[in-house]
Amino acid sequence: MESMQIDVLVNGGGVAGATAAYALARQGYKVALVEQTDGNKILNGADLLKPSGRDVLADYGLLDAVLAGGGRKRSQVKIFHDGDYVTEVDYTQHGDLGYFVLIPYEKSRKIILDQLAELPNALVYFNSRIVESHFEGDTLARVVLNSGVELRPRVAIGAEGNGSYLRKELGIEVERTVYDQKMFLGKYPMVPSVEEKNRLYVDHKGGLAYFYPIGTSHYRLVIGFPQEEAKALLADASGAALKARLTEFVSESDDALAQVGDTAIFDGIPIARMHAPSYYKGNTVLIGNAIHAIHPITGQGMNLALEDVGVLVPALKAFLDGDQGIEETLRHYQESRYEVNEKVVSYGHRLATTYHQRDAFAGSIDHKIQGSGRDADAMRVLQSLPG
Ligand SMILES: Cc1cc2nc3c(=O)[nH]c(=O)nc-3n(C[C@H](O)[C@H](O)[C@H](O)COP(=O)(O)OP(=O)(O)OC[C@H]3O[C@@H](n4cnc5c(N)ncnc54)[C@H](O)[C@@H]3O)c2cc1C
Repeated sequence: MESMQIDVLVNGGGVAGATAAYALARQGYKVALVEQTDGNKILNGADLLKPSGRDVLADYGLLDAVLAGGGRKRSQVKIFHDGDYVTEVDYTQHGDLGYFVLIPYEKSRKIILDQLAELPNALVYFNSRIVESHFEGDTLARVVLNSGVELRPRVAIGAEGNGSYLRKELGIEVERTVYDQKMFLGKYPMVPSVEEKNRLYVDHKGGLAYFYPIGTSHYRLVIGFPQEEAKALLADASGAALKARLTEFVSESDDALAQVGDTAIFDGIPIARMHAPSYYKGNTVLIGNAIHAIHPITGQGMNLALEDVGVLVPALKAFLDGDQGIEETLRHYQESRYEVNEKVVSYGHRLATTYHQRDAFAGSIDHKIQGSGRDADAMRVLQSLPG
């Protein structure tokens, strides 16, 4: 059986795991990334990369590749309630660059995984899972993959998303609150209204529709309704019921609505709220959706995951170089991230639970948090810690 000593094991090759693995391998550490799929297809609605996540990719030299791979820049989102204009979030007011990036998650993840695979000291195991993990006290000493390969890491990062395997192995229990709303993703050929601007609509009955470009030739329509209503609307395969319902609160996107037809194109994703009480134990640490889940109305989940990476990687460098103990390193990471993650997860919950009333919804919108300019400066300071 092949057995290897490595610096860092990253379990899960979503955007968070792939970026962390890339950032560490690029700095010369021996990194192994384990991903259960082949790294291609993934059903994920994270098409919007907000400024603070964007800046983490830029810091690690990945943003240019993401933009070259079709990432599209945008600066404004217009928000409506029951068809009436509420506000416009203007990203030029938050941070130096003044834009966020639109690119399907599947694409951005693949770009980062491809960059990772080119690094000489990165080992990437696709279609792989940990089948055995062996702890000595709190320290994860070795894992065995389904292929029989044994890895002995100095540090392990759990980046497997909401169902995190390593979180379970650490015994960190989380409470998930599943929203009575499922999100569905559709994709259509581009129309002028979407080309012009992103528009997000909600209504007092819990309906949501978000129209935004993904690349230059297509746009995404994300819809959300209470579960029973969603089931009934999508059961009408012609799209007539869905279109009629959307017409109740979508007021400035007639050209985009006109394309709504066959409901079979919509892929559904359940959504939940969760925040883990602790992020690490021994030499194992968690990032991204392994520690938090946020309502997607904010478009911030992947962003928070990348912010986690932006704090963890420089901190880990101090440990890997022998300048700092593991407990101090991971405590610093948790203390730096917990409050920010809590604040944004709570913000998402507030937004998602105030649809019923226009003033409450309008009052919940925080331009700074939504623009993620809130932490861009603080994040940059943290990223410039050791390394
Ligand atoms: C409808 C919807 C829309 C969203 N839109 C946005 C948005 O616009 N912007 C934004 O910032 N966020 C958005 N999010 C949130 C975003 O999807 C997540 O926050 C983000 O994907 C988290 O990234 P991650 O790398 O932590 O986890 P994931 O993306 O979940 O990746 C986890 C990876 O680990 C792998 N894995 C899982 N278990 C194992 C295992 N045992 N062994 C090996 N591999 C494993 C999986 O295959 C996957 O590749 C949205 C979420 C939803 C539901």
